Formats: sequence, C-alpha cells, structure tokens
Amino acid sequence: MFKNMVMNSMGIQKKSILQAKKSVIHGLGCFAVQFIPKGQRIVEYSGPRLNLEQTLKALEKGNEYIFDLDSHYSVDGSVMSNEGRYLNHSCDPNCESDIISGKVWIDAMRDIHKGEEVTINYNHELEGFSNRPCQCRSKNCPGFMIANHQLGLKNPQKLLRTMMEMSNEIISQKKNKNDLPPNKLTTSLF
Ligand SMILES: [Zn+2]
Repeated sequence: MFKNMVMNSMGIQKKSILQAKKSVIHGLGCFAVQFIPKGQRIVEYSGPRLNLEQTLKALEKGNEYIFDLDSHYSVDGSVMSNEGRYLNHSCDPNCESDIISGKVWIDAMRDIHKGEEVTINYNHELEGFSNRPCQCRSKNCPGFMIANHQLGLKNPQKLLRTMMEMSNEIISQKKNKNDLPPNKLTTSLF
C-alpha cells in the first residue's frame, strides 16, 4: 500500500513518481509510474556528503553510486533511502541533473511517458571508457558510457579517433606489462 511513498528532504512523506524494477539497460532501473512533463523536478539524488578523501575511499571500495558535486565533495547515493540510486545511464537520456546548494536534483529534459525508464547521462570522463560498456540502446550510443559534451561534438569521427587512440594506449601499456597480443582490444571494441 505504501510502496510508492517516500520521504522528501523535509521529512514529509509524499507519493513517489518512480518505481524500481528490472531494466534492459542494466540491473534495476527507475521507471515513471505516471506521465512526467518536461521540466518537472523528479527526485533528489540523496545521500551523505563525502569530502575528497572519503570519496576516494568509497570509489576504491567499488561504490558505484558516487555523484560528484564539485572537485571537493560528492554525494554517496548508495543508501537505500536514495530513490534515485537505480537511475541508469543513457547516451540519449530523458533527464538531467541540477546541483543547487549541494543538493543533486534530477529533472525531466522532455516529456516522459508512464512506464518509461528514467535515465541520465553519468557524464564520466573519457579516460577509462573501455571499462564502462553501455547497453542503453539509443541510436547515438557508441557502446560505452560517454559524457554529453563528448557525444555532442559536431564531429563524431573525432570522438571515435580519440577513443581509438586511448584504447591503443591501453593496449601498449598492457603489452608492456603482460605481453598481450597487439590489437586484441581494438578488435573487441570496434
Ligand atoms: Zn549508451
């Protein structure tokens, strides 16, 4: 009966417009339980605030729910009370984050239909992209989680070249370390 009831940051109980369930993108995802108009503030990505040292420790432990506020602080969204913890990445997302006074809000970038998965772009740095495969199924998905500003480049070939160069660097590093056969990674990536 109360499964869609959540507390907002004021401690007031309200009806959630998101529901966590299995996603074709990855694991569990957040789905709209009703129509969400463009521009609507959907949920706070909430959790304890971490300083840089705590952030690095959490990342070392494999915490995948860290959201950077700036270069000094982050939000640890791994807590169960964070309704946005199951938000999946998409290279063509329907939501974007908005950081206001140290709080992360998730807003609809376009109309979202009832039952549609709610997604954001995780906006990872390009470095290490080959460790972040993407199955978002959007038309512009390069097969890896790539930040909005990279995907928005007017010249997609340039992005592809940069990705190739980066994976070649990884190959040469690995080759030096483990003597892996050359081009193995390139073939599997592209
Ligand atoms: Zn993608």
